[in-house]
Amino acid sequence: MGGAGDLSSNEAALRLAQSFPGLFATVGMHPHDAKDVGGEEWAKLRALMQEPRVVAVGETGLDFYYEHSPRQTQMELFSSFIGMARQTALPLVVHNRESDREVAEILRGEGKGSVGGVIHCFTGDYESAREFLDLGFFLSFSGIITFKNAAGLREVVRRLPLDRILIETDAPYLAPVPHRGKRNEPAFVRFVAEAVAAARGIALEEVAEATSRNAERLFRI
Ligand SMILES: [Zn+2]
Repeated sequence: MGGAGDLSSNEAALRLAQSFPGLFATVGMHPHDAKDVGGEEWAKLRALMQEPRVVAVGETGLDFYYEHSPRQTQMELFSSFIGMARQTALPLVVHNRESDREVAEILRGEGKGSVGGVIHCFTGDYESAREFLDLGFFLSFSGIITFKNAAGLREVVRRLPLDRILIETDAPYLAPVPHRGKRNEPAFVRFVAEAVAAARGIALEEVAEATSRNAERLFRI
């Protein structure tokens, strides 16, 4: 999976996905950069979203923690991406930080037209997890669940249905324990899987199988 920052990283991810059989791309724009998306950028993004090997629209969403772009601008771009997801029938990869209520509200507003997707790098509480599950979303957990202070998040992952959980690295940041603080790599997803297995008291293989199956279901790959 190749993710999305600015336009050139969208294009680079797509080129990789189109060159290597096992790779797929998503096309989106981080909410941090919402303020930089004008008409011209949006036209390019729209074209990229319709390319082969693109399996999702995202990242998109809201980040009210850093608020690098004005909230209203973030919400408008998020809505535009949701519209494109509907039009292309692709799932959404949603970024959400300190904006649980607004993200849920916007997604709920989609009602029956909703294409679903995944709330990536989920760090919320059980109630907010339930709400996203009810909206038809998967929840993806990153290296954060391996952190010492993340007992609450491990409790959330313990209580969720296994068929709605994904795991990710969100590299190059958020390296899991025992690599915390270093550069993160996709291979470290193993430590995330181990933390999920430990939290649920099940075998690592079971987590690996279930989350692979879930990813295939979500991205239809
Ligand atoms: Zn994100």
